[in-house]
Amino acid sequence: MSELPETTDVLVIGAGPTGLALAATLHARGVGCQVVDAAEEGGNYSRAVGTLPRTLEMLRELKVAERLAEAGNRAERIRIFSGDRDRNIATLRLDRLRTDFPFAVLLPQHVNEAVLLGRLRELGGDVHRPYRVSAVQQSASEVVATVTGTDGERRTVRAAYAVGADGTRSDVRKLIKAGFPGETFAQRFILADLELAEGSTPDEIHLFFSRAGAVIMGRMPGRLHRVCLSVDELPGELTAERVEALLRERGPARRRIRVLDVANESYTKIHHRVAERFRVGRVFLAGDAAHVNSPIIGQGMNLGIQDAITLGDLLARALTGGGPGVLDDYERIRLPIARDAVGVTRRINAAATVRSPVKGAVRDSLMPLTTFPPLNRRMIYRLTRLVDR
Ligand SMILES: Cc1cc2nc3c(=O)[nH]c(=O)nc-3n(C[C@H](O)[C@H](O)[C@H](O)COP(=O)(O)OP(=O)(O)OC[C@H]3O[C@@H](n4cnc5c(N)ncnc54)[C@H](O)[C@@H]3O)c2cc1C
Repeated sequence: MSELPETTDVLVIGAGPTGLALAATLHARGVGCQVVDAAEEGGNYSRAVGTLPRTLEMLRELKVAERLAEAGNRAERIRIFSGDRDRNIATLRLDRLRTDFPFAVLLPQHVNEAVLLGRLRELGGDVHRPYRVSAVQQSASEVVATVTGTDGERRTVRAAYAVGADGTRSDVRKLIKAGFPGETFAQRFILADLELAEGSTPDEIHLFFSRAGAVIMGRMPGRLHRVCLSVDELPGELTAERVEALLRERGPARRRIRVLDVANESYTKIHHRVAERFRVGRVFLAGDAAHVNSPIIGQGMNLGIQDAITLGDLLARALTGGGPGVLDDYERIRLPIARDAVGVTRRINAAATVRSPVKGAVRDSLMPLTTFPPLNRRMIYRLTRLVDR
């Protein structure tokens, strides 16, 4: 990779899915940008797995949506189960959505990132690694970022605009002093990629509610299933037997899920937070730097990519004659969407993990109402964010 230039139009800080989608959008619009990332290489552990219809629609122009859809499994239904009932209590139908992408693409996040990076490179961009941004100063006309490489040498990069796409613990968010209000739940999620004795159907996502915790399960291309389990305490070593026991407490009551192997695992705390501001002057926040929520309905990566494409379009317009005023639209459009998505996720997370048998019974008796077509459509449009078109 070439030397990190000292000046650019837009400095993108962070090369997760948000930073990569933003940089690809800017390059596609002919706007100069440089991407720096503090890590020596991209992560390949279990994180997001589902790309939702609205994200696919937005990625179409970048010529990324079709590549993801070809590479991944297409989940057309989300079936919801509860407690010891064998039959699902509700089904959310993605295949009935009015969109060219009536499905969620199930694909590990690192493959998504590889597709986005490949597209960025085709468009003439790349990622400079490892470069950590430790300071951001701005004037009326530019942003000056202090960047440190592995040699320990500090350099400055001057840009018309900078974007913090640097994840949940965002340094940029702290540097621009944007508050990050919200809450952290006591529970955690275990994410594990499992080989199962009996593979489940690739075109469905299953969500199990139980008093012990929630389980979400979807099949990725190949043999592995991604399972996301909520727990009060982290187990020790995550062996196949241990996951089986956790699934027995939370998953289908009468059908034993036999786990042959645990290929990958990771853990995450459950936060629901939205930054107070998505912009301070010439510095913007996008993706997990701006909002974070439970992985229960797979919103995180999707919201980040959507932020990136909206912001990329606005920055390109601002820098190619549209003037800086158009940039006011970013926070105006994306902040309410983030608040709504985080709020919905928070409520679903709480409903999926209720402990009280009475509340659980009320939830289960109300769930079938969601199959009533207008309500089903409303829910699914909100979960897939097609409501934001
Ligand atoms: C265990 C786990 C499971 C998850 N499961 C799901 C799921 O099922 N579905 C879903 O949609 N989402 C899920 N998420 C969330 C999803 O992974 C994130 O929403 C997504 O990665 C956000 O992308 P991002 O690009 O905004 O941030 P990140 O992917 O976090 O990327 C931020 C990048 O910024 C870099 N960086 C940080 N600080 C600096 C700095 N100072 N200077 C330069 N670079 C810096 C980092 O090295 C990193 O590469 C999960 C997250 C975790 C942790």
